[in-house]
Amino acid sequence: METAGFRFDNTYTRLPGVFFSRVAAEKVGAPAIVAFNAPLAREMGLDAVALDSPLGAGFFSGNAVPPGADPVAQAYAGHQFGHFTVLGDGRALLLGEHVGTGGVRRDVQLKGSGRTPYSRRGDGRAALGPMLREHIMGEAMHALGIPTTRSLAVAATGEVVERDEPLPGAVLVRVAASHIRVGTFEFASLTRDVGNLRALVDYTVQRHFPECAGAACPALAMLGEAVRRQAALVAKWMGVGFIHGVMNTDNMALSGETIDYGPCAFLDTYDPGAVFSSIDRHGRYAYGNQPSIAHWNLARLAEALLPLFDGDGEKAVETAKEALGIFPEEFRARWLEVMGAKLGLAEPGGDDEKLIGDYLEWMHREGVDFTNGFRSLDPGAQAAPAGLGDWWARWLARISEQPGGEQRAQGLMRRANPFVIPRNHRVEEALAAAAQGDFSVMRELMEVLADPFSETERSRTYAVPPLDGGRGHRTFCGT
Ligand code: AMP
Ligand code: MG
Repeated sequence: METAGFRFDNTYTRLPGVFFSRVAAEKVGAPAIVAFNAPLAREMGLDAVALDSPLGAGFFSGNAVPPGADPVAQAYAGHQFGHFTVLGDGRALLLGEHVGTGGVRRDVQLKGSGRTPYSRRGDGRAALGPMLREHIMGEAMHALGIPTTRSLAVAATGEVVERDEPLPGAVLVRVAASHIRVGTFEFASLTRDVGNLRALVDYTVQRHFPECAGAACPALAMLGEAVRRQAALVAKWMGVGFIHGVMNTDNMALSGETIDYGPCAFLDTYDPGAVFSSIDRHGRYAYGNQPSIAHWNLARLAEALLPLFDGDGEKAVETAKEALGIFPEEFRARWLEVMGAKLGLAEPGGDDEKLIGDYLEWMHREGVDFTNGFRSLDPGAQAAPAGLGDWWARWLARISEQPGGEQRAQGLMRRANPFVIPRNHRVEEALAAAAQGDFSVMRELMEVLADPFSETERSRTYAVPPLDGGRGHRTFCGT
């Protein structure tokens, strides 16, 4: 059978059986590829030409199982808006791990492939709009240099899914370093069998943290690394104004990749309290809360791992606290690097936190667009923007004292401050056109987003903020 370059291994299925259920995808009526990521396919060592075809549509929709795949739904639990729940892949199937060019192992998952034992009351399906949205957002984040799961393809199913209204159905083919979540450890802990927990830790260490394998306590070493990766990831989100929107523990991947693009959105006008998700009524996942929520989620990971830290419960808690305690400092250091680069500072430190903070405060006070407020900053400009007061002079003095001076700063800023981001109104416009069968708007948007640091004739209109500064924007989970 034609494999189109897929080479599957299925190590996840060698974990204890509680961690997954073997399930077949539901067949769909009229599979058709509506978005295909040929560059990613090539990067994975897949045959992009063979896949962009009815054969690929069969694989991507779940109608055909690629040779070597062993589809499973993964079990997990999680804290959703602070409340513990038992979950699992209710509408997704892990086909397996494709081992591609250079031996790089990546999960290939179908999202929207039908019911599983974890579906609860859901139909196991996904609508086209939210799957295309994840396709656009994931690729935009990747181009911005932010670790993320990616979309290999979106296949329309030809079926109707019933939401508030009947919608066209689709399957997203998601590619990830893995789908191991904080919630996967919470699930392991829930089984009250330390053997399950140990098996999951060993597996995760082998896949993502091989350097921790030789540690006196691999689980503790893994927690430390997970803390560092999440701190680095959230700092990068903050640097581009990304709001994940639903940072439940089941939506936090151990790999350190951004995962589960539901109601996410990007800031237009800078506001640390910005919330777009219609279900986030209390602003738990507001832009400015993301670092402390990441810390909170990591505490849930640490809790799940407690039995592996020490036989003595109190000592285990002390150990966990110590490991978690590095998060604020770690985040602050990464944030300083990210935000410092946005102001052209090669080695931020000292008073720079205040310099950055004062600029953000000015942006907030003046209602400045986050992306453009940084991108348009130019140390060579003749005059300071109105209302910046003495900040401008302080900034210029700081830049001129660093080696390489203004020129170095400008170079750094060009690479740190994107010219285009997936602005919510442009994404919505692309999705609205796609819903009418016109994919050209989405295609052009994605071409521009693939090169976010360049200002071009074409990208200029994509840098224009919405008239209301994005304040009225609402996003939905779309499940
Ligand atoms: P999410 O909001 O996508 O992170 O999903 C949260 C949980 O709900 C996960 O366990 C999903 O598998 C499940 N879920 C979401 N949508 C559906 C659906 N249409 N059918 C079944 N389960 C779903
Ligand atoms: Mg999720």
